[in-house]
Amino acid sequence: MSTLRVILGDQLNVAISALADCDKANDIILMCELKQEAGYANHHKKKLILIFSAMRHFALELTERGYQVDYVHYTDPDNSGCFEQEVLRACQRHQSNHVVLTEPSEHRVLEAFESLSSEQINLHIREDDRFFCSHAEFQQWAHGKDTLRMENFYRLLRKRHNILMDGDKPVGDRWNYDAENRKTPKGKHDFPLPYRQKQDEITQHVVTLVATEFADHFGSIENFDFAVTRKQALAVLDKFIEQRLTLFGDFQDAMLAGEAWLYHSHIGMYLNLGLLLPAEVVQRVEQAWHESNPPINAVEGFIRQILGWREYVRGIYWLQGPDYKNQNFLNAQNDLPEFFWSADTELNCLKQCITETKDNAYAHHIQRLMVLGNFTLLTGVDPHQVNAWYLAVYADAYEWVELPNVSGMVLYADGGLLASKPYAASGAYINKMSDYCKSCRYKVSLKNGADACPFNYLYWNFLISNRDKLESNFRLGMSYRTLDKMSEDKRSLIQSDARVFWASVTAE
Ligand SMILES: Cc1cc2nc3c(=O)[nH]c(=O)nc-3n(C[C@H](O)[C@H](O)[C@H](O)COP(=O)(O)OP(=O)(O)OC[C@H]3O[C@@H](n4cnc5c(N)ncnc54)[C@H](O)[C@@H]3O)c2cc1C
Ligand code: SF4
Repeated sequence: MSTLRVILGDQLNVAISALADCDKANDIILMCELKQEAGYANHHKKKLILIFSAMRHFALELTERGYQVDYVHYTDPDNSGCFEQEVLRACQRHQSNHVVLTEPSEHRVLEAFESLSSEQINLHIREDDRFFCSHAEFQQWAHGKDTLRMENFYRLLRKRHNILMDGDKPVGDRWNYDAENRKTPKGKHDFPLPYRQKQDEITQHVVTLVATEFADHFGSIENFDFAVTRKQALAVLDKFIEQRLTLFGDFQDAMLAGEAWLYHSHIGMYLNLGLLLPAEVVQRVEQAWHESNPPINAVEGFIRQILGWREYVRGIYWLQGPDYKNQNFLNAQNDLPEFFWSADTELNCLKQCITETKDNAYAHHIQRLMVLGNFTLLTGVDPHQVNAWYLAVYADAYEWVELPNVSGMVLYADGGLLASKPYAASGAYINKMSDYCKSCRYKVSLKNGADACPFNYLYWNFLISNRDKLESNFRLGMSYRTLDKMSEDKRSLIQSDARVFWASVTAE
């Protein structure tokens, strides 16, 4: 009897565990474009094009390698639109009830497969071994700890996988070079152009599909030029290592108007699809360090993102379980402002970041954390709404990586499991790390009043409003002491400015 091997849209790699021991002559590989998946969030049009086009290219590659692929297209008349039914239909078509699957990356999809009864199919779920750290290893590390700090986890993985190590010490005798990764570009910078892939016939068909079926979804469909095959994704990685890695560290946190791509790698979307594997990315960057000696702050800073942060947020996601998304430690209840979808706002930092997000389905980490996220934290937006936005708008967004970043890192909704303090900041931080404030209608130097930068009074208002939950956090001690030195009038002014501002946002 043949085995049905299901490949999900973010498992596009021939090394995926579901394909190990595949009998090319007898086994069938099932791939499906599903309404359930395309429609559960208001996915950016470019994200949908990326996923569908990469799936179709991967199916072609598998066929060329001699695998038998059964591919269900989005518009196939019999496509039921959901995993459960498509697996059952395929079992009937191929007279088989033996199904092999690599563990889905999200609870929602895992639950859909687990809802299939064992009388219907004989389902084998295999571990997703694309990651450095298994669920069991993460659980073992987390066991008995009150706080789960990324830095400790990252050091463990450096040692365990012998990455950037000199015996049992970190190379250069330092684990972390983050303090050197906070420069803002002064003067003129000729940023290398990002990788641009010309659309082939497959991608053009998908663009037409998305334009027709998802016309009301968020984001621009114009000039789709992402990589859609593994070969192209490897070219993106090579381009990063050759042209951007050297300055990645220095300008990792910088933000410049009109410069969406800076010195970042732009590979997150390919890693999350499976087109690139984290181990090969880390290995190539470490190899480049040996061969051409880019600065250690760049190399370590980059490897920390993949080996540290990416593995760590995945560990948190699975450790916390499906209920993690319902956490709301700060009891934030406000609605997400409409301008998050339109970019129609006078706050220039938000306008820049949202416009780039709409155009590119991309914004880099500090834009997501310290501008967009910071604003939703300071204004107390409901975590469900913030998560729904982030899940929709970025090409690399999947719940396992998006949710801990948003609920844990940005919103402090887990009460400090992930972050040792909320990443709240006033306009001074944005002014230091960007050139956004120069062209803003608000004045970053003003603390109160109609022309003051809203981040300034929103920051203090956030501390006042959440005092009962945050004042015991020792990392906020200095801020609360400063707040306490303010006069009663000043604190009232902060609160009334925040109220007036929020009323103007919600009235729009
Ligand atoms: C609020 C918020 C939401 C985010 N949502 C996502 C998401 O849905 N999907 C996603 O892949 N990343 C997410 N991130 C992390 C990070 O912003 C993106 O991975 C990164 O911007 C992708 O661009 P890049 O490939 O150019 O990354 P680079 O800056 O070049 O970094 C290299 C790689 O490191 C990894 N990485 C860096 N930071 C993180 C992190 N905090 N968590 C996990 N991986 C990380 C990514 O794989 C990234 O490609 C989010 C961050 C924040 C603050
Ligand atoms: S002044 Fe304030 S609102 Fe304007 S860009 Fe700067 S930080 Fe943003």
